[in-house]
Amino acid sequence: MSRVVIVGAGPAGGALAFLLARRGIAVTLLERHPDFDRTFRGDGLQPSGLDAFEQMGLGNRLRTLPRAVINAIEIYQGGRRQARFPTEKLGFIGCFVPQPAVLPMLAEEAGKHANFRLEMGTAARELLRVGERVVGIRAEGPDGPRDFPADLVVGTDGRYSTVRKLGRFTEIATPQIFDILNLKVPLPDFWPDQGTVRLELGAGGITGAIPTADGRLWVGMTLAQGQFKTLKEGGLHTWTEELLRRISSDLAGHIQAHPECLKQPILLDVIVGRLTTWTAPGVLLLGDAAHPMSPIGGQGINLALRDALVAANHLCPVLAAGNDPASIDGAAQRVAADRMPEIVAMQEHQHRQAQTFLRSDRLLSRWSLRLLPMLVKSGLLRLLMGKRLHGLQHGVVPVRLTV
Ligand SMILES: Cc1cc2nc3c(=O)[nH]c(=O)nc-3n(C[C@H](O)[C@H](O)[C@H](O)COP(=O)(O)OP(=O)(O)OC[C@H]3O[C@@H](n4cnc5c(N)ncnc54)[C@H](O)[C@@H]3O)c2cc1C
Repeated sequence: MSRVVIVGAGPAGGALAFLLARRGIAVTLLERHPDFDRTFRGDGLQPSGLDAFEQMGLGNRLRTLPRAVINAIEIYQGGRRQARFPTEKLGFIGCFVPQPAVLPMLAEEAGKHANFRLEMGTAARELLRVGERVVGIRAEGPDGPRDFPADLVVGTDGRYSTVRKLGRFTEIATPQIFDILNLKVPLPDFWPDQGTVRLELGAGGITGAIPTADGRLWVGMTLAQGQFKTLKEGGLHTWTEELLRRISSDLAGHIQAHPECLKQPILLDVIVGRLTTWTAPGVLLLGDAAHPMSPIGGQGINLALRDALVAANHLCPVLAAGNDPASIDGAAQRVAADRMPEIVAMQEHQHRQAQTFLRSDRLLSRWSLRLLPMLVKSGLLRLLMGKRLHGLQHGVVPVRLTV
């Protein structure tokens, strides 16, 4: 029987662990954190991510979890509402399900199989090797260092992946022009309803306000990359002023009335890239570990889940048949080959969006932002970008779980 160690219990690791476990493969899932609570993680599920849960047979369970369903977008400019339109006009309905609910659900489903083990509070530190082949992980757990031998190590440990670093993979990094500063405030009384997102467009960038499943409002402001460091040096009031200057007076007043929410904003330093190869003998990388995604278009979770489905398709038959290293490595390489085209297409699309709307130093970008309400209202945006928007929502290649 083959043994698989998966490092990182995010969406990619949790989904793959479940899929392998239910096919009888011995899986150990290591998670650095002692629990699944995270304040600011991506919650946005596209139709492609929802479909991944349906294919895994977890659609009904997912529907029992707390969620925020977004069905309208309002665009504000210069302190005034310029447009309100149903998300259907762009061909989708946004669904936000918090990761602190999704991840325990995946672990619980995997845990229904005796061949699954979850090691929380356990961080991968070293790759164990025999010659050039990785044969396991040395990790630091609650009781000290421990070795986890494996026929295959899967690194799903996110954008700062330890497995990627230890495996000496070659990375292509795309320089980014923006970061996102995040905070949460109570949902204001004046908010139209729990299904409405507000986008505030201005010279400095875009500020989004999205109702969350826990009844609050998530406010995210784009900043030029590195700008937050400078703002922070000026003290709390400097970046707060920047935020308040960018948004309409009703929302600014609401945020000022909740100063406690301003104390610990979380900066998402946007990292985008992908590995030229996701595999080495005995190792496979998936999700953000293989291809850290831009937050544009909320793709990261969805692509991570789709990686897991494709990985299960290729790995299950080979792992169930035994532990032949060449067969395992061959299957891992097929996973990467299948997933690369979608990742490249999505990252290129995200890059174009950033260049079009977030280059505040460029006239074209400032005009694109200014024209956005009109483009949406008139239906021109969907006409011009319909195919790409469809790809963002449903994926650009078909992904079908076959095991
Ligand atoms: C603020 C923010 C907003 C986002 N918004 C969205 C959105 O709306 N929609 C969307 O689709 N995506 C969004 N994303 C991106 C999305 O969260 C990620 O792309 C997605 O979670 C990637 O999944 P993953 O499983 O590859 O990695 P991760 O979710 O990053 O999971 C990696 C896991 O590995 C663990 N880990 C790390 N190192 C080790 C180690 N050495 N040993 C053991 N465990 C380790 C981590 O603790 C973590 O649990 C957002 C990201 C952020 C930060």
